Amino acid sequence: MAENIRLEVVTPEKSVVSEGAQIVMAPGTLGEFGVLSGHTPFLTTLKTGSLKYKDESGRERFVFVSGGFAEALPDRVTVLAESAERRKDIDVQRAKAAVERAEKRMQGTEIDIDYVRAKAALLRAISRIQLAETR
Ligand code: ATP
Repeated sequence: MAENIRLEVVTPEKSVVSEGAQIVMAPGTLGEFGVLSGHTPFLTTLKTGSLKYKDESGRERFVFVSGGFAEALPDRVTVLAESAERRKDIDVQRAKAAVERAEKRMQGTEIDIDYVRAKAALLRAISRIQLAETR
């Protein structure tokens, strides 16, 4: 049987995941990538989306991630994200409120920095809702 890898998902605020995994799938900016034990080392930036992994017992786990980097080494994956939380910790009401706020801010026609920020916030909120509702 293939060996497990160590998965660490860390944000500036907290450690979100620190455990062994059979496989990790993560949303790289160039596309989703999968890592098994023995993977060639690489580094990538992340987009907003969901990271999936199988824990040591083979159970699928889901984590929202947004921004930052992932480093894959033969025996570990380290994700340094701007924000991240496990699916079970997603507060859907909070994300829905974030969708409303972002949509209001995007009503102006001018494409300025606030619009760009609101669009990124909207993407985070929609991704959280989608992930929370994945079954
Ligand atoms: P909000 O406007 O609701 O704060 P946001 O997208 O701006 O949303 P982030 O900057 O991505 O929030 O994250 C800030 C912190 O709040 C992180 O610790 C993140 O895990 C947490 N967080 C944000 N939204 C949610 C949510 N809907 N459910 C659970 N945790 C959340």
